[in-house]
Amino acid sequence: MVYIPSLNHGKCANKSFLGSTMLKKANNFLKKNILIDTHIDLPSRLLLNMEDITKQTSTGDFDLVRAKKGGLAGAFAAIYVPVTLEESGALNFANSQIDLMEEIVREHQDILALAPDINTLQQNHKNKLFSFILALENGAPISGNLENLHYFFERGIRYLTLAHSRNNHICDSSYDDSERWSGLSDFGIELIQEMNLIGMMIDVSHVSDKTFYDVLKYSKLPIAATHSSCRHFTPGWERNMSDEMIKDLATNGGVIQINFGSDFLRGDILERSRNEKKEISEILKRLSIPSDSKEADEIRDAYKTANPKVFATISDVANHIDHVVDLVGIDYVGIGSDYDGLGDQLPEGLKDVSSYPNLIAELFNRGYSEEYMKKICSDNFIRVWKSNEESRKTNT
Ligand SMILES: [Zn+2]
Repeated sequence: MVYIPSLNHGKCANKSFLGSTMLKKANNFLKKNILIDTHIDLPSRLLLNMEDITKQTSTGDFDLVRAKKGGLAGAFAAIYVPVTLEESGALNFANSQIDLMEEIVREHQDILALAPDINTLQQNHKNKLFSFILALENGAPISGNLENLHYFFERGIRYLTLAHSRNNHICDSSYDDSERWSGLSDFGIELIQEMNLIGMMIDVSHVSDKTFYDVLKYSKLPIAATHSSCRHFTPGWERNMSDEMIKDLATNGGVIQINFGSDFLRGDILERSRNEKKEISEILKRLSIPSDSKEADEIRDAYKTANPKVFATISDVANHIDHVVDLVGIDYVGIGSDYDGLGDQLPEGLKDVSSYPNLIAELFNRGYSEEYMKKICSDNFIRVWKSNEESRKTNT
């Protein structure tokens, strides 16, 4: 069914009254229902700069004080492995982050718990415990060995983002200028089949279009794009998903979890960011200043002061959700903010994990029902997770 947004959008005489009513409704909704965010880059942030997340932290987009305010029940914590570690060090870097997350949970068992399965996530929510679900972003540490996939499942990893910003031994990345495999490698195909058997979810955010279509071809289970947005709003940008891909994803029973990055949400902002990078690099080149020097940082700051950033809005995020719903219905979209992974490009009104009620209020304002909101906040993603859990029960 295609849902048509209908209620009062932009037409209410008393917008601030409507806004506060909807915000109250959003906060009440989040008290009763599970909201999961499927991509937060917390572990690598803490590994580099440890902070006590039980208190409001001075840096970063996530801590438990703000998560509670934002009505967040749980988050997939991305164990992020940079492409520079592809040749060596990937396994250790991933393990250090998993160790760190386990330690944090162990130290704060009164408010935190891991959720390696859906049932535990639901129990944690009832017991007022915040849930972390672990995910691996970049298949580099798999190192061409299926035993490593099993190892990471045992350590609690529940989805694997196949690649990051460069092609790897599994598949091609959307950010890489060249093709290495034209989609999945032979090992990548084996990996997909094994992931299906053991019930590890497949994340297609970051991969190239050809990889996406190879994954659809070889996966027997629904897949997820855990932090991607709609290419419709950023024409030609392969990191986001095209309308055709979203339709094929829906046919697969999968889900797209909308990324909050301003570059992901609006083509004009993406264009500005590209120009900024290009112009700064030209200035540095002209002045023969190394890009990792202090002077380079000063030039970047001066450029940013002279050219203030433009940010997307809550309405832009809602437009992406509307777009998926208009294309394929309400069952295939959710939230994968990419908090702690985006830097200074978060939308106005969605600057950190305390902000989810603003988005929920906007969606209520656009006419979404509570039933629909439950699907966006968790049920759609949980459907994909469940199909993987059931496959594991049948096959192992
Ligand atoms: Zn990412």
